Amino acid sequence: MLLYHHPDFALHDTKSHPESVARITRVNQMLTDSGWIGKCTLPAWKPATAEQCERNHPQAYLKELEDWCKHDAGRVEVDTVVSTGSWTAATLAAGAVCDAVQRVVAGEDTTAFCAIRPPGHHAMPNSAMGFCLLNNIAIGALQARALGLNNVLIVDWDVHHGNGTQATFWEEPSVGFVSIHRFPFYPGTGKADETGSGRALGTKVNIPVAASVPPDEFLKRLYDSTEKLANAMKPDLILLSAGFDAHRNDPVGGLTLEAEHFRQAGEWISQLARQHCGGKLVSILEGGYHLKHMPECVDAHLQGMQAKSK
Ligand SMILES: [Zn+2]
Repeated sequence: MLLYHHPDFALHDTKSHPESVARITRVNQMLTDSGWIGKCTLPAWKPATAEQCERNHPQAYLKELEDWCKHDAGRVEVDTVVSTGSWTAATLAAGAVCDAVQRVVAGEDTTAFCAIRPPGHHAMPNSAMGFCLLNNIAIGALQARALGLNNVLIVDWDVHHGNGTQATFWEEPSVGFVSIHRFPFYPGTGKADETGSGRALGTKVNIPVAASVPPDEFLKRLYDSTEKLANAMKPDLILLSAGFDAHRNDPVGGLTLEAEHFRQAGEWISQLARQHCGGKLVSILEGGYHLKHMPECVDAHLQGMQAKSK
């Protein structure tokens, strides 16, 4: 497995915000303590280029974001904070996903995990939103398309709807999207009747669930819908918005899952990738705000991804 982690993700200084520097320092500590840093390949990579970012975000927004960071703008949107180091962290995060996609597509390894921040799946092409500045997974899917892949499947099990990702690919039939999320909940989108438009109709699948949904039902609904879409569209690569804020103790999200469920889901999605695309899977950290449980969930997720590989 390729593992992307970097101390510079701590440069995105959000002060007392729940999407804190401590999240990534705790994850990095776990990656060391649990032996992942010793076991995985650690590629060197570069920040996303303007060309890579501009596949998803207009130049005007990228300039605005860079200027906010230069001026240490603080709160730029109701939920979103930037600091002077946020541009470096955000472009390094999107760059990690692009690098992982390139290496996995080239066959250097089949799987990758990107331990990055800020998260990305709420970022709209034109605006920051919900702790997110650049849409890392959308930029990664567009990198895969630029490399010539026909179909990419994005799975999003963060407790929040991946509205930014959905917005990018709403009319794009080559990028499938399955999101399971608490509903009604932030950001308010992700109803079951949101399925894409035009030639992309049916390539977007939303699974809204109640806060009380039992973990086994959550997983079954995720598995059934994703397998159905994967069978229909035959992806060449699977990308995962791996949020861990559906954990029962998460202070922001809070559904009913525990670390063991993220192990099971990791094993399942690796198997799905082996079945459809030679195991090609890039998993990308999104939310997860409990400083003890989130790193445990990442550890469990990685164990699941490794369970039957090789
Ligand atoms: Zn979330």
